[in-house]
Amino acid sequence: MGGLIDAAVAVRHTPFVDQIIGAAPGGGFRPVTEAILTELAGLCGAANVIAEDAKALARYGHDQVPEERYAHAPEVVVMPGSTGEVVEVMRLATRERIPVTPRGAGSGLSGGAVPLFGGICLSFERMNRILEIDTKNLVAVVEPGVVTNKLDDALRPYGLFFAGYPMSEEFCFIGGNIAENAGGGRAIKYGVTGRYITGLEVVLPSGEVLSLGGKRLKDVTGYDLVSLMVGSEGTLGVITKIFVRLMPRPSYRATTAALFADARSAMAVVPAIMTGGRIVPTSIEFIDRSSLAEACKQLHETIPYEEAGAMLLLEVDGTHESQVRADAEALRAVCRTHSPLALILAESDAESDRLWKIRKSVPWALKRRTPDQSIEDIVVPIAAIPDLLEEFRRLEGIYGVAIPCFGHAGDGNLHAHVQKNPSWPREEWEAREPGILTELYEMVARLGGTISGEHGIGHKRKPYLPLVMSDRQIELMRQIKRAFDPAGILNPGKIFD
Ligand SMILES: Cc1cc2nc3c(=O)[nH]c(=O)nc-3n(C[C@H](O)[C@H](O)[C@H](O)COP(=O)(O)OP(=O)(O)OC[C@H]3O[C@@H](n4cnc5c(N)ncnc54)[C@H](O)[C@@H]3O)c2cc1C
Repeated sequence: MGGLIDAAVAVRHTPFVDQIIGAAPGGGFRPVTEAILTELAGLCGAANVIAEDAKALARYGHDQVPEERYAHAPEVVVMPGSTGEVVEVMRLATRERIPVTPRGAGSGLSGGAVPLFGGICLSFERMNRILEIDTKNLVAVVEPGVVTNKLDDALRPYGLFFAGYPMSEEFCFIGGNIAENAGGGRAIKYGVTGRYITGLEVVLPSGEVLSLGGKRLKDVTGYDLVSLMVGSEGTLGVITKIFVRLMPRPSYRATTAALFADARSAMAVVPAIMTGGRIVPTSIEFIDRSSLAEACKQLHETIPYEEAGAMLLLEVDGTHESQVRADAEALRAVCRTHSPLALILAESDAESDRLWKIRKSVPWALKRRTPDQSIEDIVVPIAAIPDLLEEFRRLEGIYGVAIPCFGHAGDGNLHAHVQKNPSWPREEWEAREPGILTELYEMVARLGGTISGEHGIGHKRKPYLPLVMSDRQIELMRQIKRAFDPAGILNPGKIFD
């Protein structure tokens, strides 16, 4: 699943991005000159600065948002090897008023790592060391460029794990997880990334270094700046070191795939598990009919998916096999009261992995259908999911778009892919998409939800923030941004203007 950076080709500039940047393209920033390139090479080493190769620059100009028009290449990619080098790059950028966009693996789904104004892409691929695994304090200390799964692999021999990781763990970086406060398939039981971050080293745009928190598990000494950094999408400071709280790795898991005739029956199971079953499962993932069919066809999967209107993927885990088995059986008993078409119990780790592969393949299978689609990250109270699904069908009926969806049903977070009406030329899709998204988001707000549960706002969702947040809230966030980044050079154009 590697090679994310090569997955698509970004254009250097698009009229669409110019439109987002506004009337003054360039945003008052200064260009990266030959003299600045020489200085950057002196700071980080010439081999760690990319400036001439347009194709290489373009690869750092997009994340996993499929629509090319959200892309914009940097003027230079800089790959620092240490906090000291990050400090020097930030000092230079502030002095010269050059925008800096931090970048992890580029797996984001909000355009967050896109250098909208050009300038410097600060790529963390070289800062990828696990600095310490402290088994006495149950904390790991890592650099931001560590691939999330690599941390997990390193923790396995100690019987520990990082419980907050997302489902892109095979390729995303832990720094990106923190900047987005990533969630994932295990959030119902374990929560999201932020719960496990006890400390951060952060370089401010000025080049000052903040040491926030540390190995201590509790801290109410003043405002919680660690939590403020988590989910700040690279707009407040650059994360250079991370303290990750570790948990005992569960020894057993039991995975069940439950197929239902329709989505409403499947979703009725979700609250019933928590109330009737009195179980907090590790995962309850939902896949709707068309997403399931698309993924199964692609995988040549033989589970009986053709008749199914929806699938739930349910998992429990724990330390004692007998307890895990009992929980899994209780969970299936709840499913049985909702007339499933089939209950498929994984009998081995390999079978669990096979069921999870169906879920993990869905985004790629849907993405393959068309680049003209908006990947959404809606979150609503769990009881509102059936209404949300009906609203998707209503919008499909009105506009002739397709809205396959899947996601983390256990925490109300669904990924809907709003896909172009096949009869529309791309220009018509681009013209109509904002109206469709506005209607979708207004409906989500009416259901008590919001527009992003884990992918963030970036620049893709920025125009829609006022639909779910008051002007006063947005203004307070602007003031926080100014306090951290008075010159406005860090990841400009993201979240709000
Ligand atoms: C197939 C697929 C499945 C996914 N599944 C999930 C999922 O289950 N849950 C989920 O939450 N997300 C998921 N994502 C989205 C994405 O993987 C996450 O948002 C991930 O956390 C991004 O990490 P990254 O390293 O790729 O960050 P990038 O995309 O490179 O950057 C994301 C943001 O982080 C900022 N940033 C990066 N590094 C730093 C740093 N050191 N300091 C400050 N800011 C920084 C960037 O500026 C940007 O704003 C999925 C994506 C794909 C393609």
